[in-house]
Amino acid sequence: QNMLSEKENNFLASIYISGSSAAICWCDISTGEFSAMQAGSEGFQEQILAQLAKLQPKEIIVNLGEEEALWLWEQARTLDKVYISVPATDIFTERSAEDTLKRYFRTASLKSVGLAEEDVPELFFSVGALLGYLKDTQKQDVTHLNELQICDISSYMSLDKATIKSLEITETLFEHSTEGSLLGVLDRCRTAMGSRKMKQWLREPLNRLDQIQERLDAVELLCQDIMLRNELREHLKAIYDLERLTGRMSLGTANARDMIALKQSLAVLPDIKAALSDSGNKLLTELMRQIDPQTELCAEIEASIVDDPPFSIREGGIIKPGFSQELDDIKFSARDAQEWIASLEAKEKERTGIKTLRLGYNKVFGYYIEVSNSFKDKVPENYIRKQTLVNGERFVTPEMKEKENIVISAQGRTNDLEYRLFTALRLKAMGLAAQIQASSHAIAALDVLCSFAESSVKLGYVKPSVNSGDEIVIKKGRHPVIENTIRDGIFVSNDLYINRDDCSMLLITGPNMSGKSTYMRQLALIVLMAQAGCFVPADEAVIGICDRIYTRIGASDNIAMGQSTFFVEMSELAYILNTAGPKSLVILDEIGRGTSTWDGLSIAWAVVDYLTRPGKQVRTLFATHYHELTVLSESVHGVKNLNVDVSESRGSIVFLHKIVEGSASRSYGIHVAKLAGVPNEVLQTAEDRLQMLESGDQPALKLHQAADSYGQQLSMFAAAVQEPTKDQKQQIVKDSALAKKIASVDLMNITPSGAIKELEELKKLLD
Ligand code: ADP
Ligand code: MG
Repeated sequence: QNMLSEKENNFLASIYISGSSAAICWCDISTGEFSAMQAGSEGFQEQILAQLAKLQPKEIIVNLGEEEALWLWEQARTLDKVYISVPATDIFTERSAEDTLKRYFRTASLKSVGLAEEDVPELFFSVGALLGYLKDTQKQDVTHLNELQICDISSYMSLDKATIKSLEITETLFEHSTEGSLLGVLDRCRTAMGSRKMKQWLREPLNRLDQIQERLDAVELLCQDIMLRNELREHLKAIYDLERLTGRMSLGTANARDMIALKQSLAVLPDIKAALSDSGNKLLTELMRQIDPQTELCAEIEASIVDDPPFSIREGGIIKPGFSQELDDIKFSARDAQEWIASLEAKEKERTGIKTLRLGYNKVFGYYIEVSNSFKDKVPENYIRKQTLVNGERFVTPEMKEKENIVISAQGRTNDLEYRLFTALRLKAMGLAAQIQASSHAIAALDVLCSFAESSVKLGYVKPSVNSGDEIVIKKGRHPVIENTIRDGIFVSNDLYINRDDCSMLLITGPNMSGKSTYMRQLALIVLMAQAGCFVPADEAVIGICDRIYTRIGASDNIAMGQSTFFVEMSELAYILNTAGPKSLVILDEIGRGTSTWDGLSIAWAVVDYLTRPGKQVRTLFATHYHELTVLSESVHGVKNLNVDVSESRGSIVFLHKIVEGSASRSYGIHVAKLAGVPNEVLQTAEDRLQMLESGDQPALKLHQAADSYGQQLSMFAAAVQEPTKDQKQQIVKDSALAKKIASVDLMNITPSGAIKELEELKKLLD
């Protein structure tokens, strides 16, 4: 547990796939979170992968054979640090799932908990296997998991892996750091539970208007009522990680310090409830009701456990005096004996008249009396000689040993007794685990709401007006992350208007570095923040709910995965075109860059055409360096041109970062090259060539021809990249068998002839 980052969850996920349906179940035993989700039959693979992208599990178990699991592995290894197991023991069988589930839910009918095999076979197997696997690996029954939450995927916005990554929601694309991500800007949580919850909320914003509204109203109240916010945040600061504490109680690894941390955290809850008692806000009142301070348990810990107990629970020093008569009695008699021993030296000096008589202690024979040689003749009858030294002798007396025994045995007995008293209390806490977990969730949610409010006030955000329409209006919007990070100059805010009706496709042109990507991501983040329940960086925002956000940043490099950048870009594009619906928001950033100009331009054209078709009209922001595309606004309904303003004087340009209507007259590539320091001579030649190219009218003609044929090819391609061919699949398997083989070679311990043999084997794999 010490190795787990406390600001993130550590999920174990269990996936069951059968034919074209699947379910996924996940839990975090350190916090008790326990949920499952049934994937819809259409695009079930994508749904599972999207869920994995949100969870970022540390380990996945799956019911596939090793070879079939490669598919998942191929997909999931782009997740960070995940371990995929194909469990050897058959935990995915009907028998074991049934047994496990019935035992866990203490029910004879799985229908009652919504997990009957005949109703929801995929859920049945995935949940059953997860519990079975936990039992196998933890060597005990897990009991502290929360009530199983079966998620309704339709109530959450769907964000796929590429979108979560490229929007840098919880970590940055390259450094994987929280700083520089949206989470990094918004997270002012006072508890680790809050930080984890915020991560979750940002990765799965809501789709349901009423729920979004509830969160926004709560944040609004917390923004306005500074006193309440400050008071709550002050209380939250005193709360330890209740989820993890409860996890440790249940797993039997909690020590007395954890118990004190539990007490101190629970002790704050009544104040929090009191603070929330007359907020008049629906969500805050609901959270207040969910918080249960467990006063009885709290009082019991207070009465029994000392304020600053030791780390170990087996060496005593834990239980307060006055809590157990038995314990106090043993301690009293031990103290009595201890005092007798302590006073022995003075008493014996007096009795014997030996001035140098000294009481000592060592590990070999415990307490002893030491007498120097000069007083040898004064040693009394009842002294028993134990050891002779150079200058004297050591003795013991029977009475002394008797008292010593009392002390030693009392020590053992009190240690045992304290341990028993402690574990009994821990068991009690364990019995309340589910209730404590419920309180922790409410506390975590409260922490996130306070943090949203705090950030909103500090950063000048406004409450968005969210509705079920399909219009989005942003006045003076800003990019939540970049506005805080730009060093020189100030962030230029921009307006935006989009709707499905007559303005669904915003084509944005402008030179490199002018702010196109920033503008588009800013919209995606504003929508996402609003639907997560946070205020947004704008002067005004009206948001027609988006059920999904897609972002594709062209040229996202995936060389590490062995696929060409262009291929990846096209597969992602295929995925968007195949799945984006009327409520989606699509952001395409320089799509089609990775191929020749005519190819790229034609593909871009066909995409604009496809997404703006009557009936589809998907709200899309499309940044392109092909300013040739801007002619489409004249012929295609819904296309509107925007460009980023630059001021040009004496051959050099200044980026104003202001989005204005209309198309860019040129792409300023040569100007940007100049800014970047390309030699004058080269710039001059480029200028000449450009004029030459622009004077002919050939390009326009070619564009029309190319677009027609590529439009068709694109649809075919889109279909093709969905499902790899058998040959491709085999290739993947082969590649990875080879990879495995190479990885298994132990270079430190191989002989030259051994190496040749390995090489031979490797070659065989290729045949
Ligand atoms: P493009 O996609 O057009 O090449 P980017 O959106 O990547 O340009 O922006 C390039 C840089 O310009 C950003 O990193 C940021 O520093 C700056 N920038 C972009 N938009 C703004 C803005 N609205 N106000 C201030 N600076 C901006
Ligand atoms: Mg860009």
